[in-house]
Formats: sequence, structure tokens, C-alpha cells
Amino acid sequence: MIILGIESTAHTFAASVITRKGEILSDVRSVFRTEKGGMIPNEVARHHSNVADEVIREAISKSRQRKLDLVAYSSSPGLSPCLRVGLEKAKEFAKELNAEILGVNHCVSHLTSGHLFTKAKNPIYIYTSGANTQIISLEGNKFRIFGECLDIGMGNALDKFGREIGLGFPAGPLIEKLAKKGKYVKLPYVVKGMDLSFSGIITSAINKFSKGVKKEDLCYSIQENFFSMLTEVSERALAHTNKNEILLIGGVAANKRLCEMLEKMCKDRNAKFYAIPLKYAADNSVMIAYQGFLEYSAGKRENIEESDINPNERTDQINVIW
Ligand code: AMP
Ligand code: MG
Repeated sequence: MIILGIESTAHTFAASVITRKGEILSDVRSVFRTEKGGMIPNEVARHHSNVADEVIREAISKSRQRKLDLVAYSSSPGLSPCLRVGLEKAKEFAKELNAEILGVNHCVSHLTSGHLFTKAKNPIYIYTSGANTQIISLEGNKFRIFGECLDIGMGNALDKFGREIGLGFPAGPLIEKLAKKGKYVKLPYVVKGMDLSFSGIITSAINKFSKGVKKEDLCYSIQENFFSMLTEVSERALAHTNKNEILLIGGVAANKRLCEMLEKMCKDRNAKFYAIPLKYAADNSVMIAYQGFLEYSAGKRENIEESDINPNERTDQINVIW
């Protein structure tokens, strides 16, 4: 079985072709970036519309496959105008290729793709991306959310600070670089039970920046507080579930300092730490193709006339049938 995956939820329009064994035959991406400002949904959707055909055709041609069986697309959650571009292209190509179609949840795809690339078996998932920050465990047939951000996701919080100090989008990697030259200044530390709140920390950092505190110091301190907060609740999740594996996924998983903190905590508890490889940490279409394969193999089918997007669908609403 050969699967075409299409990703379009936010900044990335991507297409890839994989086999049922998870072998990646092609992986083509086009990422929306700005020098200034952030992601304006209609602008990002325009970017996706402009590149979609080229990205998909390149992915198909690089795969050297004549017959594709399934087109999987991210139907939820995400920016509505961007999801719409993915949906329309998935329908168009499913018809052209005479293939089945299946919409999948983007967040769940991040989680399951962790198993494609690491040896984690039954982990606590630390999912920290642009829009999401969640501590998750699979119990029964649902991904249960033990804790999450109460306002904005960690990546978006980093990007917001970056926007205020003129770093452009995405700011996470630049903040990581600047942080290497910084020292600690006091910022709020906001953990409420198992939940986290980032936006007050960003407001405080922006205020300090306007009063002349060095951006390097603020980048360092934001990272230290954000990552310590996440490590604290991750440790609590391990303790309460008696699990002994952490699997870090999502775009912020690319951050070395975050990995270092989680790894140290795991070592102290005799737990194993896994992080998704850098290339597959952020949004990609391999994970969408793989999730499509899992659900299709478990018997899920979709009528193309009823294919639609669901911008607010949460991870814990999905029935884990695979
Ligand atoms: P995703 O939504 O999973 O594609 O992740 C994108 C987010 O990851 C953006 O908010 C980026 O700023 C963030 N990000 C990417 N690389 C890094 C990094 N090295 N450190 C911190 N955040 C990062
Ligand atoms: Mg994502």
C-alpha cells in the first residue's frame, strides 16, 4: 500500500509518499516565513495555494510510484483557510489518482509518528509545538491530556516574544541561539497543577525589554522558565502514571536545552528519554501519511463527498482504533 500525505494546518505545506512499512519515498515541504510580523491566516493560505500543486507533484514524481492507494490529509486542527487548501488539494488528487481519501488529526499524527522514528513503547508524550503544549498519555482507547497550556502554546509564545523584539517568524531557533549568550533575569514561573501558562511570562519579558534588559538575557530566562515548567509537570506525569518513558514531539522539540533538561530529569528517575528526530519534530506530511495508513488499516473509510475540515478538534476526542 502506498500513501500520499498532505499537510497544511499552519506554516507548512508539505506532501510525501510513504509505504505501509513507513519507508519514506519522498518528502517535499514549503514553509511560510516572514522577516517581520507573524502568521496571518489568509497570507499563509495564499502561500499554500501558490505552492500546493508543485509540492504535491514533486512528491509523487520523486516517489517513482505509479499507483497510489490513499491520500491522507490533515483535516484538523489548524487555521481554517489553510486547512481548506489541504482539503481541496487532497480531494483533487484523490480523484486524479483514483485513490481513497482520509482526513486525520494533525496533533495525533505528531504523537503516532514518534513511534515511527523512536523505540518508545508506552510513553508520556510531551507535545510542544506552535499552537499546542500538552502532557499526554494513552489510556484505553483515548489520548488523555494530563496537563496543557492555559493560554497560548509554547512555540507561539516564543514566536510572540520574537515578533516583539524583531526576530521574524519562526523565532524559536533564533531565541535558542541568543539564549546561549544570556544570563538569568527573574521572570514569572507559572504552573497551575498540571497546567502551564506562558503569556504572562512573555508580557513580563516584553516589559523588561522596553526597560533596556538585554534580549540575550531575556531569551535565556524565558527558555529556562518555560522548559523548567514543562519538565516539572512531565516528572509529575511519570510519577502518577508509573510510566518510565518520555517522548518529546512538536516543533519546540528541536530545542537542545529543552531536550537536555528532560533528559536529565529522566535519568534521575531511571526513565528513558526519546525525542523525535529534528527533521520530523515540526509539521510535516510524513506523519500525516503514516496516520492515514494506521487508520485506514484499522478499517476507517471516508466518503469524498463528505470530506471536511474540523479546525477545533482536540487530541482527546479521537478514538484510537489502530
Ligand atoms: P510546529 O507547530 O510543531 O511545526 O512547531 C513550530 C514551532 O516550533 C514554532 O513556534 C517555532 O518557533 C518552534 N521552534 C522551532 N525550532 C525551535 C527551537 N530550536 N527552539 C524553540 N522553538 C523552536
Ligand atoms: Mg504541528
